[in-house]
Amino acid sequence: MIYEPRGKAREYSPLAVNLYTGCGHQCSYCYVPRVLHMDRYDFDNNPKARERSIEQLIKSAKKYTGTKNQVLMSFTTDPYNPLNDKLQLTTEALKIFLNYKIPVAILTKSGIKPLKDLSTIKLFDNHIKVGASLTYDNDNDSKRIERGAALPSERIEMLKQFHLNGVHTWVSFEPIIHFEQTINLIERTIAYVDEYQFGKLSGDKQLRDWKSFINRIIPMMRINNKRFYIKQTLQKEVRKGLLTEQEIAMDYLNVPSFA
Ligand code: SF4
Repeated sequence: MIYEPRGKAREYSPLAVNLYTGCGHQCSYCYVPRVLHMDRYDFDNNPKARERSIEQLIKSAKKYTGTKNQVLMSFTTDPYNPLNDKLQLTTEALKIFLNYKIPVAILTKSGIKPLKDLSTIKLFDNHIKVGASLTYDNDNDSKRIERGAALPSERIEMLKQFHLNGVHTWVSFEPIIHFEQTINLIERTIAYVDEYQFGKLSGDKQLRDWKSFINRIIPMMRINNKRFYIKQTLQKEVRKGLLTEQEIAMDYLNVPSFA
């Protein structure tokens, strides 16, 4: 169940787990059905738990006991998708990771749903981070393009609540769709978020002024002492020498291990 992502996915995490196939958030830009060769309708409307997922996860977690590498939940689904409301596999998985001392990065568009796991998440101390994917800064765009996901304001509220509870928080801006909306979202979250990641839409070939955009966001990160990572496809747009060696290292933002 725990696996090593390859290619561009590796930039986000050295290890990952997907407890479900399909999602339910219905993001129009989602490339996962294409990558998994899944029917788009099924992916959006019929998420399923992977077979014997908890039993398989325990087996897998034993092999990774005490690993120095974080496990991301999740790449090819959302860990708090609508089916998880019923099955609660993510809650079970968190307890397993804690038991086997495996550091975790959560990434979700499910708004405040992860707060129900707050007591377990706090037991991880600094070996976990909780993040939201943010794309649009307004309800109308989000309702149109991410029909099943929580609204942006609810995702931001989730970040705020975890921050107030002393949990490390992060935001993934991938895909970046609208520059001004992304800047606005940074301003709205900067008080509650410890780190940011930035990436392009998969296959984005639009001619856009990425250089100006990056020249605006880097000072925002640095002035506010935020850690950040710009994905390699975007690093090409950054003036040589602008990023430190640490800022371009793939594992820079990984959660510390229990060791
Ligand atoms: S939340 Fe993530 S996995 Fe789910 S549909 Fe949206 S982009 Fe795809």
